[in-house]
Amino acid sequence: MNIQEIRSQFPILSEKIHGKPLVYFDNGATTQKPSSVIQRINDYYAKENANIHRGVHTLSQEATSAYENARTTIQQYLGAKESHEILFTKGTTDSINLVAFSFGELLTAEDEIIISAMEHHSNIVPWQMLCERKGCKLRIIPMNENGELALDQFETILSAKTKLVAVTHISNALGTVNDVKHIIDKAHKVGAKVLIDGAQSIQHIQVNVQELDCDFYAFSGHKLFGPTGIGVLYGKEEILNSMPPYQGGGDMIKEVTLEKTTYNELPHKFEAGTPNIAGGIGLGAAFEFLNSLDMEAVLQHEQELLDYATEALSKIEGIQFYGRAKNKTSVISFLIEGTHPYDVGTLLDKMGIAVRTGHHCTQPIMDQFCIPGTIRASFAFYNTKEEIDIFIKALERIIPMLKD
Ligand code: PMP
Repeated sequence: MNIQEIRSQFPILSEKIHGKPLVYFDNGATTQKPSSVIQRINDYYAKENANIHRGVHTLSQEATSAYENARTTIQQYLGAKESHEILFTKGTTDSINLVAFSFGELLTAEDEIIISAMEHHSNIVPWQMLCERKGCKLRIIPMNENGELALDQFETILSAKTKLVAVTHISNALGTVNDVKHIIDKAHKVGAKVLIDGAQSIQHIQVNVQELDCDFYAFSGHKLFGPTGIGVLYGKEEILNSMPPYQGGGDMIKEVTLEKTTYNELPHKFEAGTPNIAGGIGLGAAFEFLNSLDMEAVLQHEQELLDYATEALSKIEGIQFYGRAKNKTSVISFLIEGTHPYDVGTLLDKMGIAVRTGHHCTQPIMDQFCIPGTIRASFAFYNTKEEIDIFIKALERIIPMLKD
């Protein structure tokens, strides 16, 4: 893999922060965008901008086919059976809320939903809100001290009452890769549906939704080199057809009278109003960019970065890692004794290094470890070992300053 060639496709990676070359280790929060994605969005607004699905004029038809082609590119990348199983949303949060609201309408007070102790707030709060609305019960798969799910306990809480299991594929705070195939197979045995929060996985793992056999898969464009404000909910056709619409408005209707409305077919039934057209087209370009990469080489490089950084960090006195799962992606969460994560993050920024500090929208994980937050370095394939060296040297300078 020619990393320099790949890096040259990401203009921001040549920027300086506080006069220092940017070292961007906050890929778990959002990823940088290649020129092809930026150019595609620019071209859309410069040459093709029109509203979609309703127009007979040329621009509208061109914009519609660009938007629908993006849907097909995503369908093929995910290995979904039908393109109408790909719903455009605002992102992972919106996708999960769509399921919690719409699938949630089918639930009653006797039903149970299972999530895990390592979920992002966006895969906790919508289910709590649903339980408040419907009176259903929320049950939790616990997590051990290495940041792995206690799957034996999953089986004890799974029952005929379970209607949905919603778990993350990869933890954004710890990097743990969960055995979601196992969870899906077990859940299906009791007739429960499964939603996978894929916000951290498509960019790090080769995902095929039919092989996984998940019922829903949610992710955000901005975490896989695409634009913000656009994401996807994959859902199996039969289940999506059984669900009521999420929002009412234009495009999601077949016929409206002042008394009654009939709803459109998939995917439009779940896409009310003028969508984020440029975002959808930009997301299609991001998937085309991913298609141009050798994914096996990408994943191997990311694993090497993880191993290299973990080893170098281990030599720092007083370091404590959070998340020591056997199966892990390129996320490292840690604290350094005698320092506050916020101070470390602020001083790293002064040296051009972007990391994330805080609870990473996973307060229950932090509560379990009895800490307010961590320093998180999360890598993408465009990062290098040289950048990790810069990061380690910076930490070696910062730590004595903060401990004084
Ligand atoms: N789930 C996970 C695992 C995440 O990492 C994130 C983003 N940090 C989300 C959900 C929410 O994604 P978004 O804010 O793009 O909707």
